[in-house]
Amino acid sequence: MEPDLPAESAPDPPPEPEGATGLPLDPSPSQTGELLDQAMALLAGHLEGLATRPANRHADPGALIERLARQRPGEARTPEAAFDELAEVVAAGRESTSGGELAYIPGSGLVTSAVADLVASTLNRYTGLPGIAPAAVALEAGVLRWLCELFALPDTSQGVLLSGGSMANLSALVAARERLGDASAARVYVGAQAHASVRKAARIAGLREEQIRVCDSADGLRLDAEAVRLAIKQDLTDGYEPMAIVAAAGTTNAGAIDPLGALADLAEELGVWLHVDAAYGGFFQLTDRGRQRLSGIERADSITLDPHKSLFLPFGTGALLVRDRTDLQRAFAEDADYLRDLDDGAQLPDFSQLTPELTRAWRGLRLWLPLQLHGVDAFRAALDEKLDLAQEAWTRLEADPRITTWGAPDLSVVPFHGPGGDEEQDALLARVNRHGEVRLSSTMIHDRVAMRLAVLSHRTGPDAVATAVDLVLGALDASEDG
Ligand SMILES: *Cc1c(COP(=O)(O)O)cnc(C)c1O
Repeated sequence: MEPDLPAESAPDPPPEPEGATGLPLDPSPSQTGELLDQAMALLAGHLEGLATRPANRHADPGALIERLARQRPGEARTPEAAFDELAEVVAAGRESTSGGELAYIPGSGLVTSAVADLVASTLNRYTGLPGIAPAAVALEAGVLRWLCELFALPDTSQGVLLSGGSMANLSALVAARERLGDASAARVYVGAQAHASVRKAARIAGLREEQIRVCDSADGLRLDAEAVRLAIKQDLTDGYEPMAIVAAAGTTNAGAIDPLGALADLAEELGVWLHVDAAYGGFFQLTDRGRQRLSGIERADSITLDPHKSLFLPFGTGALLVRDRTDLQRAFAEDADYLRDLDDGAQLPDFSQLTPELTRAWRGLRLWLPLQLHGVDAFRAALDEKLDLAQEAWTRLEADPRITTWGAPDLSVVPFHGPGGDEEQDALLARVNRHGEVRLSSTMIHDRVAMRLAVLSHRTGPDAVATAVDLVLGALDASEDG
């Protein structure tokens, strides 16, 4: 039976104010549909064959860059004109989301997450406070609970979503500082391979350069618990106050995992905050091998995760988990007079009191929708495959007498070294990348240039990794010949 609709079901929308010539600020549903068709045409062209598209070939964007940099908005243009220009922008970049991207920490991006963003931005639900869109906050809170449980954190724990790992590291160090109180004599202990965002976070949190203690380790790749113990003992004698030990669960340079269990023992014994920066490696916790190798992470006071790295999400999503939510409240809670008429949203997290932000994107949806649609096993399987592929790449590289590695990969980054010094490494890298199919990057390990192969895109399969290794070995043959 057809429902009885009133004769005039919806009143006309208010007229557009005088003077506007382009698309109305609220396009009609059919105008919006046309716009989405334009977007879809652009995206379909982009997604077709993306996994196997060369990662390091791109048109010279010179003139386009100058034109765009000079461009200022003014008169309305047609959707066709705007999307044509956008297509030029897309074509001008390196294809860093292809399966051939093995440089830096590849970020692939999920279409399902992008669809969630479209929905979230259109609805524009307010999730900075729990009382306005409580179900939207509850949806995000559910995903955050899942994250806390993934790392076996207790009921007192709390997760928050932020823009990335840098903001998560910063929020963790601010929370650690607030627990300490006066930070003028504070010290944080980091490994030589700690991510730059950790030192940046410590500086923004108010620490001076000499309050950041870099602890050397025997192998130069992993923070050594005994070195940290000695540093802390010395500092206590000298009147410093240990504020936090920052361990890496997968370094960006080498994918190395610090000895989390030994560092947790030390942190517990000395009553020092243990922060684990798992921005790159955290989601390997979904796999059996990852969980074993990350063992001890569940004892951290705080954990940085980057769903936009090892959960393949689009950029703009980091997460911080803390063992005790009162640590976040101490650091970030404030009263605001103009929010006095909002109810407290029952038992839901109040993100405005747990993070530096007030108004925020409804980030929860961009995790929730992919997890609902693909299921957790899809992510587990993809991450397991990355571990296999990195292991295979390492096995082939290690077998070549011209190549030095730093041992089997803890996760999915494989640093290696060809014959010769820094110049030879740079030349080797240029040779491999010039081919265009795949892209590798380099770093410094022990003050020497090292090449690295990082497998983290969900689009990277056996072929891309085999091609990369073939290209490296082929480039070595060629340089021997020439
Ligand atoms: C990428 C990364 C960060 C910084 O995260 P952003 O999301 O880029 O801000 C911090 N730590 C490690 C280990 C990383 O790999």
